[in-house]
Amino acid sequence: MVSAAQPRVLVVEDEAAQLEILSYNLEAEGFVVSKAQNGEEALLLVEEDQPDIVLLDWMLPNVSGIEICRQLKKRPSTRAVPVIMISARSEEVDRVRGLETGADDYVIKPYSVIELMARVRAQLRRTRPASVGACLEYQDILLDAETHRVTRSGNILKLGPTEFRLLSTFMEKPGRVWSRDQLLDRVWGRDIYVDTRTVDVHVGRLRKALCQFGGSDPLRTVRGAGYALG
Ligand code: CA
Repeated sequence: MVSAAQPRVLVVEDEAAQLEILSYNLEAEGFVVSKAQNGEEALLLVEEDQPDIVLLDWMLPNVSGIEICRQLKKRPSTRAVPVIMISARSEEVDRVRGLETGADDYVIKPYSVIELMARVRAQLRRTRPASVGACLEYQDILLDAETHRVTRSGNILKLGPTEFRLLSTFMEKPGRVWSRDQLLDRVWGRDIYVDTRTVDVHVGRLRKALCQFGGSDPLRTVRGAGYALG
């Protein structure tokens, strides 16, 4: 089973060898990788797999990387997903910047894997902090995504693995209302069939765990919509 803490990345690269090397390195770093060899495929996969980040080659057949980037940044469903453009020449990077494609970062080929990973992590620290082992804080609740330790007002909370993933999802975006389906995708994974009522069961357990040493319930049930933290 794919852990929800594992970040998902979509790699768009038409050269098969490059695609394989990059995917291999990303998988070795704990990423769940989707691969696309052209822009059309990328636009389909981005909806299907909902990646946390996109690595996008500039030179692609038919639709260029720049155009793909523009479209990703235009769609409400993908606008917030960071895009790192990979280009063969620095002049291209200058052009990408000039064109205001909305790319979040740029890497020039040949790049070192270490450098690329550092840039990927920098983007994820902003958008999916729990997936890169950051510490999250919400009021008196502290969650250390690296050690999987959660405390509330200094007391260590006992949480099951599912409750931990639920809490990290909520703590990454306090105030955001998550539907049961969105929580299922994020916490259980898209390939697993789980009844939406399971979400209610685990949210109930999480609530209990969060209040085991007292304190008010920080989770909010939003009628007809889902759940939110705060
Ligand atoms: Ca290419």
